[in-house]
Amino acid sequence: MTLTTHDNPLDTPVQFVRGVGPQRAELLAKLDIRTVRDLLWRLPRDILDLTDLKQPDDLVEKVEQTVRGEVVDVDARQTSGGKTITAALLDCGKGEYVRGVWFSQPWMRKRLLTGTSVLFTGKPKRHQGRWEFNHPRVQWLEQDDGDSPAEKGAGLLPRYGLTEGIRMHEMRRMTRHAAEDFAENIPDAIPASYREAHQLPKLSEAIKQLHVPRTMEAYESARHRVLFDDLFEFQLALALRRRAWKHDDEASVMIATAKIDARIRRLFPFRFTEGQDAAIRDIVRDLQSGEAMHRLLQADVGAGKTVVAVYAMLVAVACGYQAVLMAPTELLALQHFDTIDTILKRSRVKRSLLTGSLSPAQRRNTLEAIRTGDAELVIGTQAVIQKDVEFAKLGVAVIDEQHKFGVMQRAHISSGDHNPHVLVMTATPIPRSLCLTQFGDLDLSLMTDQPPGRQRVVTCRITGDAPRQKAWDFVKKQLAEGRQAYIVCPLVKGETASDDGPRGADVIHERVAKALPDFEVGLVHGQMDRKERAVVMDRFRDGELHVLVSTTVIEVGVDVPNATLMIVLDAERFGLSQLHQLRGRIARGSYQGYCFLFSESSAPDAAQRLHALESTADGFRIAEVDFEIRGPGDVLGTRQHGDMPLPVASLTRDINILDEARREAFSLVDSGDFDTPEFAALKRQVLERFGRLMDLPQSG
Ligand code: ADP
Ligand code: MG
Repeated sequence: MTLTTHDNPLDTPVQFVRGVGPQRAELLAKLDIRTVRDLLWRLPRDILDLTDLKQPDDLVEKVEQTVRGEVVDVDARQTSGGKTITAALLDCGKGEYVRGVWFSQPWMRKRLLTGTSVLFTGKPKRHQGRWEFNHPRVQWLEQDDGDSPAEKGAGLLPRYGLTEGIRMHEMRRMTRHAAEDFAENIPDAIPASYREAHQLPKLSEAIKQLHVPRTMEAYESARHRVLFDDLFEFQLALALRRRAWKHDDEASVMIATAKIDARIRRLFPFRFTEGQDAAIRDIVRDLQSGEAMHRLLQADVGAGKTVVAVYAMLVAVACGYQAVLMAPTELLALQHFDTIDTILKRSRVKRSLLTGSLSPAQRRNTLEAIRTGDAELVIGTQAVIQKDVEFAKLGVAVIDEQHKFGVMQRAHISSGDHNPHVLVMTATPIPRSLCLTQFGDLDLSLMTDQPPGRQRVVTCRITGDAPRQKAWDFVKKQLAEGRQAYIVCPLVKGETASDDGPRGADVIHERVAKALPDFEVGLVHGQMDRKERAVVMDRFRDGELHVLVSTTVIEVGVDVPNATLMIVLDAERFGLSQLHQLRGRIARGSYQGYCFLFSESSAPDAAQRLHALESTADGFRIAEVDFEIRGPGDVLGTRQHGDMPLPVASLTRDINILDEARREAFSLVDSGDFDTPEFAALKRQVLERFGRLMDLPQSG
């Protein structure tokens, strides 16, 4: 067989790349690398720059420099103030040594095993006759990085994710050969004129420079190109969807007259915050524009989004339309219904609840009322409402997203016969960068303030027996004073084999009930029957239960102002944003909230992550930290859809590329240039990738 049996050289099985062969091809298959294309797109994770290494003798003060060496000694000790100092001694050869020092990062000790080869980068200073790096950036090396014959003298070494049986230098050799022999066949969907105008290298050249970088600048420019492409295509898809919406986007004009405004405000026992007023102004403007609203209302937990949503819905009702509020869970739908019911106590607005637990007869009646327009304000779970519900005259749809849904579900509600105004509420602090992507086609209203009197929840990470006991004692004392507590577990069921493994809520419930004989202890989790769950929640809300052992089902929206205590077990198993949401549950009343994060994990980043929660109440910052550590799919909870379209980008690092891609994509679509034949290939690619996912019109 020869290479030319394949029409497209990129389809050539990877075994025919120089230096691969059938055995390595089998190993590569474990990495899902089967063709030359797969191998070329196996982009390096990062790059090692060995071009400018210093020997300790050549170091100077106050300039950033890099040294290479082998870790020969590590120790960690406590200062009298209780901080840890970790120090590592690096053997740089020729009898020269440097030291790296870290404060309050005890986990560094486990990461710097003796015998490992590393680079330290930082500004060194002389200390006790030796060069010392304070908190240097560390890069871990393979023992033989740069030593194999082909790599000798090559200063820039890409680094790949590997599989067992393939060494780093072998991977480098294979990708180098693939790049040299095949990269030029990679087609470029971005037209040459556009590339030149935007100083983008050719894609084939970029792929080559990623695997075989000529200079650091060439590598960076290649990386920029690949990231740009990825983000650009996604933003083009968003721009196309937005255009499709705008195109057919007439919506009813609803005017919130002064009288309507006053009537709505009177329903609330408090003044709106500035943030609420500003968001309401945005919405009022949208509702009277004649174009359908597509707005994202983003604010931290407890900021009072529901108030804003209710306002928008009541404007619709006042103008003779129906409004709907969709919640992500049954529990939340119930809670919203209760809240709204209370607000509307003295009003004639007809509201109905539509959830999965209605009896068939109830359901029939409700659907009928919605069809005839008799039901003015409908609250339910999104799944239920999207199925077979026909509105007589839907004016405003609110989606309480709580970041549980992806992009896709959203499209449907606005594609019915009517063009309702759509408001998406997201309770979670999504960093600006994510906001631009996941919700990139929505207008944004951001509320950064909180209703007055909110207290910051005191948050402590608790490790070890004695502190744990102290935390329990504290909780007991508070319970005795009349407060209530949540105990949150990562699992529903079970005792794990290992003693320190996570335990299920059922086991914890039994133990806590035994340990707190003077208090009523309830259990709630997602595998319980809905009605059962609602009964338990009601009892907790009414104060009959003092302690509620639960899973994360309480994460969203549950509102019990007297519950001010929370213990999270195995806290490191939760996402940071999730924990932040959870503790939002205990920031609601007039008593100080206390959140104890129990964690015995010795994983290096566990302490670091939980520390973010101790040190800040800023949900945006927390989401950023979470995002850096876990990647976007996990943070958004979209991983299960497999739809996070950003495989290579680290958004916190590459925020400016994202901004650029977004600007360029929207301007390309708005100018009409994207519809010219020059961009046909790129458009085809965008539709292939995102068309179905985002419900884009196939003609673009
Ligand atoms: P979110 O949905 O943003 O987490 P909610 O809308 O559920 O927040 O509001 C949280 C709590 O704050 C509710 O109990 C609500 O009644 C109260 N609240 C909302 N807005 C105000 C305000 N302007 N002044 C006082 N309390 C408010
Ligand atoms: Mg809410």
